[in-house]
Amino acid sequence: VVRRLHTQNVRVLALANQKGGVGKTTTAINLGTALAAIGERVLIVDLDPQGNATTGLGIDRRSRRISTYDVMTGAARLVDAVIETAVPNLAVAPSTLDLLGVELEIASSRDRAHRLTQAIKSVSEPVTPDGHTGGFTYVLIDCPPSLNLLTINALTAADAVVVPLQCEFFALEGLSQLLKTVDQVRAALNPRLTIHGVVLTMYDPRNNLAGQVVADVRQFMGKKVYDTVIPRNVRVSEAPSHGKPVLLYDLKCAGAQAYLKLASEVIQRERSLCAA
Ligand code: ADP
Ligand code: MG
Repeated sequence: VVRRLHTQNVRVLALANQKGGVGKTTTAINLGTALAAIGERVLIVDLDPQGNATTGLGIDRRSRRISTYDVMTGAARLVDAVIETAVPNLAVAPSTLDLLGVELEIASSRDRAHRLTQAIKSVSEPVTPDGHTGGFTYVLIDCPPSLNLLTINALTAADAVVVPLQCEFFALEGLSQLLKTVDQVRAALNPRLTIHGVVLTMYDPRNNLAGQVVADVRQFMGKKVYDTVIPRNVRVSEAPSHGKPVLLYDLKCAGAQAYLKLASEVIQRERSLCAA
């Protein structure tokens, strides 16, 4: 196990983009798996009522006894929701459809934007006194496809945002809205929030437009765009139906290799942030 160079206990990254189908969940699962493979202890917090991250990690409906819904309402602690996955050092806090109603339930409470921030404090301790395993070094939050109160909770709890962008013609559409929301959260709720990086997903070299989209996004976001581009790869889209991250399903495929590269780039950026 690689020893961590960081001094903080836990790094919290939110996977956010209010567009659906851009690769948030796929990136949460596979970046999480890759980080676990290189020695981090990773918790994926499924904050999307659809629960695709939970399902994609092989957790069936019956096993989701305590979910992020219970955590958001304050009925349970985040450590109590944690389920270990088939990947060593990778756990998930599952979501259920109950999460659809949580916004209304907590809307009138004063701490409505800080529920997740509070909850995450419980998972960085090595092992809690009642024997729950914590010790997480990374928390990855899989956000819903909306800029709702759940996403605001994620941005408030996060150290940084990872923005997946699909390599398609409308990739940049909606990005300024997301960046504006990040600025607002930084100003009002979470001064430490930064953009960790933009990850281009589902790149298809046979699509003539894709190269232009990559160039446009790099022009617009500069160094914030990771060098690693995730290719469109059928193995990546097959893996969730087997309840496995692509790194377990087919480690050699281009998609799995790209997520390993992305993980090392993420760690590299963390080191330069820590050194700064
Ligand atoms: P989001 O969470 O942003 O809604 P998903 O991660 O669920 O997006 O991805 C949307 C769809 O695209 C899913 O069916 C997923 O399997 C597929 N997908 C994501 N990344 C890739 C990829 N690199 N290659 C092929 N299919 C992908
Ligand atoms: Mg998703």
